[in-house]
Amino acid sequence: MRTLVYSAKDFEIPYLNNASQDSIHSLDFIEDRLTTHTAMKAIGYDAISIFSADDASANVLEKLKDFGVQYITLRSAGYDNVNLNKAKKLNIKVANAPDYSPNAIAEHAIALLLAINRKITISNKQVQEYNFTLSNLVGMDLKRKTIGIIGTGRIGSVIAKILHGFDTQIVATDIDLNKNLIHNYGVRYTTIKELCSQCDVILLSIPLNTSTYQLIDKEMLNCMKPNTYIINISRGAVVHTKSILEALDSNRLAGYATDVYEKESGVFFYNRSSDIPEDHLLESLLKHPKVLLTPHQAFATQEALSNIAATTIENLTAWQRDEHPKNRLA
Ligand code: NAD
Repeated sequence: MRTLVYSAKDFEIPYLNNASQDSIHSLDFIEDRLTTHTAMKAIGYDAISIFSADDASANVLEKLKDFGVQYITLRSAGYDNVNLNKAKKLNIKVANAPDYSPNAIAEHAIALLLAINRKITISNKQVQEYNFTLSNLVGMDLKRKTIGIIGTGRIGSVIAKILHGFDTQIVATDIDLNKNLIHNYGVRYTTIKELCSQCDVILLSIPLNTSTYQLIDKEMLNCMKPNTYIINISRGAVVHTKSILEALDSNRLAGYATDVYEKESGVFFYNRSSDIPEDHLLESLLKHPKVLLTPHQAFATQEALSNIAATTIENLTAWQRDEHPKNRLA
């Protein structure tokens, strides 16, 4: 199976080469993102592999179909960038990598929470300037605090298990209740509005879809206590970023720590230091003292990269054998 890997990044290529070395698949790598302009690079390939910043919308899928691409394997759990209905209509098979390491993402969510609460980045900056004062560095104990998890799927349930060890009260909201979390980790399910009004910390671990687009908007922010921290490791567009910034500026929110940003495509994963993007919203996030931003790095662990590569090869192998991969989306 000839496969073109879009958005191939230097740190993941060795894992993909390693996973494919004993397989029948030949992988070629390009740094370009998949867009309407780069779709033609897939001419001559049976399959493509894409990541979260690649654009597999209807127009792009039509082009890929014309160019003979039959399969798309995602190196990500989220698939909000793929028009699955269109893929089905065009008979392009799609599969993702849903379970490569929920722990990697959950651990990063906890890293963001601890860092923003205990002001670790501010502290590190201060000591580099020989300022060893603590006036700006007072945080809160997590013990006995009420922590809300929005989305208790693979990642959210690992977050709940980790937070249980901090002796926190965990409340959650999800369209499916996870009985294991209720019985073994004391998780209490409630409505999103109640969760927003009760919690000291709110973690977002939901997929981006039509029901979650800008779920955390002005109305939800108005329900929150002013000492609340929001931690987002899902997708940037599950929050209304401008409303978050307004809430921070008016002291109605304590902090926003995020690994994702709604307009991150084409910016995150690149060194843009000598070609700074004109994006005022991003600039406002980066400059805000109550915002902590990481560049979609939650998946960047050795174990996650190794599992993503293995799943990519598994998906291709299933199609080669004319079988459905277990991670089939379309
Ligand atoms: P999952 O499918 O296992 O869990 C998602 C949960 O959200 C499910 O339990 C689902 O029922 C729930 N949900 C869906 N819509 C909802 C709604 N409207 N209200 C409440 N709950 C809702 O997915 P996961 O593996 O836990 O991943 C979640 C998301 O995290 C992914 O879709 C992806 O966007 C993001 N992610 C980010 C990174 C990163 O590097 N930052 C890595 C992996 C995944």
